[in-house]
Amino acid sequence: MTEIKLIFDEPVQKKKAPKHIADLSPAERKEWAKELGFQPFRASQVATHYFTHLSNTPAEWSDIPADQREAIAEALTPKLIELVTTRTTDGGMTRKDLWKLHDGTLVESVLMRYSDRVTVCISSQAGCGMNCPFCATGQAGLTRNLTAGEITEQIVAAARACADGELPGGPTRLSNIVFMGMGEPLANYNAVVRTLHNITDPNPDGLGISARSVTVSTVGLVNGIEKLMDEGINCTLAVSLHTPDDELRNTLVPINNRFNVREVLTAADAYEKKTGRRYSIEYALIRDINDQSWRSDLLGRLLKNRNAHVNLIPLNPTPGSKWTASRREDEAEFVRILESYGVPVTVRDTRGREIDGACGQLAAAEKGKE
Ligand code: SF4
Repeated sequence: MTEIKLIFDEPVQKKKAPKHIADLSPAERKEWAKELGFQPFRASQVATHYFTHLSNTPAEWSDIPADQREAIAEALTPKLIELVTTRTTDGGMTRKDLWKLHDGTLVESVLMRYSDRVTVCISSQAGCGMNCPFCATGQAGLTRNLTAGEITEQIVAAARACADGELPGGPTRLSNIVFMGMGEPLANYNAVVRTLHNITDPNPDGLGISARSVTVSTVGLVNGIEKLMDEGINCTLAVSLHTPDDELRNTLVPINNRFNVREVLTAADAYEKKTGRRYSIEYALIRDINDQSWRSDLLGRLLKNRNAHVNLIPLNPTPGSKWTASRREDEAEFVRILESYGVPVTVRDTRGREIDGACGQLAAAEKGKE
């Protein structure tokens, strides 16, 4: 059996990222401002500019004395992410940003405008330690955990791009956030929970986005799911199951050797009970690997009495990989069988394919150029 090391907030960062108000709770922000020699209420003022007005122009922060604006902004909201490249597709409605962090680490986020919502998919780690063999990010391993500030900065940048009308269709509001970029969010638990507060806390402490519009996706770290349900945040949980049988899942999602299918679904059920939020089962359909009808049948039987919804993801093949998307007819049959059990199913649209949409591919391409 493969031995799996669980990483919970392990300090893998060699040189720490600069501290930012987004790393702290509102009370801690005030304390920190005081420590830095500013009046504590400056922290709330800065939070208002950052979370409510999405402003990164201290010159306009008129409630702070002009001669202090730059120093306060630099101290409390240092720039944590720098845009390296942006690639767009779908007529500009999908945009993938590659960010460089203070230590040169690269991470990516994807912003997608739909008719009824705008969603950003963010990274919670640089790389990922979960080692799923079909995933570009997994192949590169874990570089390090991101700080709450670094995760929040991706979201605030997306909200700013929406407000500034950078997407076709004019100014809009960022409505949805999904933790489905690089990394396993529950393996960077504390930073992710701080970020969830930054998203859902009302202005000026946070962005004031409803927890219903936030999805945390996990490969099934049962202890993380159990902790998260007690946080009182009530965001949506997505579990990357990818197959209903332990035998294949032990290989496809190696953490299954630690938390098997039954344990993961039991934890998801408990989360659903506690939060009242239906959870989703993410299932990357991989040709001749996990797309057989008997697997759909087994999944249907497992889920028929659960408050879960299945999101099938046609695999986005990574260059040089033997893993590829299912045939159309196999995908249709998989859906048909699941629906015959009354399980709600959607097939995720494959936005971003033309821009190396699978997680980790853009960062991997950029690294290859170095
Ligand atoms: S599929 Fe998700 S959990 Fe698995 S290696 Fe890739 S990023 Fe990590």
